[in-house]
Amino acid sequence: MKSYRYLIVGGGLAADAAVMGIRAVDSEGSIAILSEEPHPPYRRPMLSKALWRGTPIDEVWLPTAEAGAEIHTGIQVMRLDLDTKCVQDARGEEWRFEKLLLATGCIPRTLPQAPDGILYFRTLSDYFTLREAITEAEHIGIIGGGYIGSELGASLTINGKRVTMLFPETGICARLLPPPLSDWLNAFYRERGVEVITGVLVQRVSRDNRWQVHLSDGQTLIFDALVAGLGVLPRDELAHQAGLTTPTEFSPPTQTGTPEKKSLDGVRVNRFLQTAHPDVYAAGDVALFPYARLGIETRVEHEDHAIASGFYAGQAMAGEAQPYEHLPMFYSELFDIRYEAVGLIDSQLEVRMEGDLPTEAGVITYHQQGRIVGALSWRNAMPVDDLRELIGHSS
Ligand SMILES: Cc1cc2nc3c(=O)[nH]c(=O)nc-3n(C[C@H](O)[C@H](O)[C@H](O)COP(=O)(O)OP(=O)(O)OC[C@H]3O[C@@H](n4cnc5c(N)ncnc54)[C@H](O)[C@@H]3O)c2cc1C
Repeated sequence: MKSYRYLIVGGGLAADAAVMGIRAVDSEGSIAILSEEPHPPYRRPMLSKALWRGTPIDEVWLPTAEAGAEIHTGIQVMRLDLDTKCVQDARGEEWRFEKLLLATGCIPRTLPQAPDGILYFRTLSDYFTLREAITEAEHIGIIGGGYIGSELGASLTINGKRVTMLFPETGICARLLPPPLSDWLNAFYRERGVEVITGVLVQRVSRDNRWQVHLSDGQTLIFDALVAGLGVLPRDELAHQAGLTTPTEFSPPTQTGTPEKKSLDGVRVNRFLQTAHPDVYAAGDVALFPYARLGIETRVEHEDHAIASGFYAGQAMAGEAQPYEHLPMFYSELFDIRYEAVGLIDSQLEVRMEGDLPTEAGVITYHQQGRIVGALSWRNAMPVDDLRELIGHSS
């Protein structure tokens, strides 16, 4: 049985940042990362943007190993035993720890009863598969008009592919952006050659040498390759199995057919990223943490949070715990439009827009119970730190 001072399950952005956090405090203690992916830690956000716009693949890698962490790829952890402080992988091998970090991220939602081969885009392997597929595929279908669908729609179009996006909402990124913006994005994408089909559900998918997608409005669309971005679910199963979180309730199946967890899912941590067990921490997408400025508990599925919370968790594991009070930001690139956002970005909230949106720069604020809970800068209207300043202020 191998034994480490610091063991990290998951090999993504949070894991890499945790190594840096540990090393900022402890230059000696042994660190191992166990990751089920075949690749060492890499910059996941590049998969849907930069790598399609000329950034060389070499730039995807994170410098985790240089900080003195052992990286074990292709290892899926199946069990966590808190009494003996060890985890067991899929081959039955056990790995002991003094301090453990769960940085297991999220897994994409899938379509029910669909044939194999739909690309639920998340990993570097998915990126390589899509790159390979588009050497032959001419017409690509993208199911989903949210974060991943909108970015891939733009990136594949820039790469000369014929793209059709289809989704149930009325507009692109409609769950984040208010109707005037998301409706405008439909037109903006169409002008660039993307076919945008709104207000449809996928009823059935079949496949012979091409893909047939049967829609709720009676249409059947034919594609050479099919990609889906249907949102993600936290990989909190190890914590559940070890009894670390409160039980997660499931709501009825959504329109995509996948049972949707209620918002309080993930691995619950305190403000030091520590779970109910003092030697087990969680960070990144999977962590359900106290969002101090808003006085809520939430998960955040974005890069800045993965990096900051991973670093804080690493420092805490190494004995220098500081409260995690960072206000995470996220960004996206849709053709030549960039936006950044902080806080709760949900178009169901009361939304106010300032500036000549959408064609010019502007700021969108999101309001709840008389205060600003989210702020979005459209086309570089406001620096991210100024967005952060807005959060929590009265409306
Ligand atoms: C295509 C794409 C583009 C994105 N672009 C942006 C962006 O522009 N801006 C932004 O803010 N955010 C973006 N995100 C989100 C961002 O990448 C995530 O928030 C971030 O990667 C989360 O980091 P993490 O380390 O928590 O989890 P992950 O990066 O998901 O890493 C978790 C790792 O743990 C592994 N794992 C899980 N369970 C086990 C187990 N039991 N045993 C072993 N290994 C396990 C997984 O395989 C994975 O490798 C993007 C996400 C995707 C998919």
